[in-house]
Order: sequence, then structure tokens, then C-alpha cells
Amino acid sequence: MISIQNLTKRYGGVTAVDDVTFDVPRGSVTGFLGPNGAGKSTVMRMLTGLTPPTSGRAHVLGRDYRDLPNPGERVGVMLDASAQHPGRTGREALTLAALTTGVDRSRIDTALGLVGLTDDEAARRVRTYSLGMRQRLGLAGALLADPQVLVLDEPANGLDPQGIHWMRSLLRDFADRGGAVLLSSHLLHEVQTVADDIVVIGRGRIVASGSMEELVAGS
Ligand code: ADP
Ligand code: ADP
Repeated sequence: MISIQNLTKRYGGVTAVDDVTFDVPRGSVTGFLGPNGAGKSTVMRMLTGLTPPTSGRAHVLGRDYRDLPNPGERVGVMLDASAQHPGRTGREALTLAALTTGVDRSRIDTALGLVGLTDDEAARRVRTYSLGMRQRLGLAGALLADPQVLVLDEPANGLDPQGIHWMRSLLRDFADRGGAVLLSSHLLHEVQTVADDIVVIGRGRIVASGSMEELVAGS
């Protein structure tokens, strides 16, 4: 459902992403692991049409994101949890997201339920949220349209072990219903319990990929 082939991005003399190739098939969660500055966000920004590749291709559901009909309904994206509307309540932030993507507002309660934010929490301003609550709200936004694909940049950032466990079952469920998930992290423990496959990136290049067992075995 996600197909990335020979994807490269250069900013002036800096090669942020260097000949990256991997797939995320239906029904699976792929962890995208690498230190800060490795190129994870840049790959995700190309995948979701926010920045054009220098060369290569990043397809989601068989096409460039920008060529998809109703991309906001098919692909749930959470790129920067700090980019939420701090002065709005959680519910208002989701209402804005629903308006932008044309999603029925009845989905808001479903999405809040999926991420475990209560009515009281949804009525509070986002600036009063803990990082973990912001991540839940970001995930609610990504899940709002009941998409087929999730692209999540550092969704576990700020979650405690319980939160990571919760995210694992949410994403597992999503994948088991035929979805595909790409989630990035700079911390192995955040992806190893969640992901079927792991793609490791360093300085823009893929340095390893496979299941956790394959990576540990060094094959
Ligand atoms: P990660 O998400 O793994 O932390 P990024 O994709 O954000 O890594 O960054 C990869 C590299 O590309 C870094 O060296 C970063 O500074 C650089 N980079 C990202 N975006 C830009 C940009 N718009 N202009 C110049 N350099 C950029
Ligand atoms: P993240 O930490 O989520 O990967 P960054 O802080 O690297 O995000 O990037 C945030 C924004 O700044 C993005 O739009 C990215 O393209 C831009 N950016 C990142 N690094 C650079 C850079 N060296 N020069 C110019 N813009 C950059």
C-alpha cells in the first residue's frame, strides 16, 4: 500500500534522503527507525505530497499522494504533533480537521473513543495537554476519516510504556483490518513491540531492514 523506490531528496549540497527503497504491504505495521536528522520526516513529507522528491518515487495506494482522489480520506497523516491548534479545544481541533477533509462530524466521537480521550479531555484546550495527550489527539486526527493507510511521524514520542502498549493494540487492530502503517521513531523500544517489519535509516540511507528477528540475527 506504500511503495517507495529509489527515493532521493537533496537540499542544495545536503542529501537528506539517498536512494531509499522499501514497501509497506497491506495488513502490516512498518517501523521506520533512525536517529534525529536521518531523513525519516523527509521521506514522510515526500510520501504525503508536502515536498517533491529530487528523484525516485513515493507511492501510496498506487499513486503519488497528490494524484489520489480524496487523499485526506484514504491516508491518515500525523507529521508534527506540536502543529496542533494550542488555543482550541481537542474537539474543536478535530472539527477543523473534519471540515478540511470533508469527513462527517459524527466520526469525531468515534476517533476520540479509539484513542481514549474522554469528553472532558476533549473539551480542554490543547495547550493544557500533556505530550501523550497531544499524541492521542494527533492519532485521532489521523484516524478521523477511517483511512486505509496511516503515516505517523514519532507518534510514540512522550508516551509512557502503557501508552506504547495502547498504541500497539490500536495499530495492530488497524493493520489486521487490512490497513498499512508506517511509523517513525528514533527509539528502538518504541517500534520493536509495535512493528512487523523495521526499516533502519541513517544519514539518508537504508542501513538494515527486516523483521525484528532478522535484524537481531544480522541477516
Ligand atoms: P529525521 O526526520 O530523521 O529527524 P529529517 O528528514 O527531518 O530527519 O532531516 C534529514 C536531513 O535533511 C537533516 O539533515 C535536515 O536538517 C535536512 N533537511 C530537512 N528538511 C530540510 C529543508 N527544508 N531544507 C534543508 N535541509 C533540510
Ligand atoms: P522533525 O524533527 O520533525 O524531523 P525538523 O525540525 O527536522 O522536523 O523540520 C521541521 C521543518 O523544518 C520541516 O519543514 C523541514 O523541512 C525544515 N527543515 C529541517 N531542517 C532544515 C534545514 N537544515 N534547513 C531548512 N529547513 C529545514
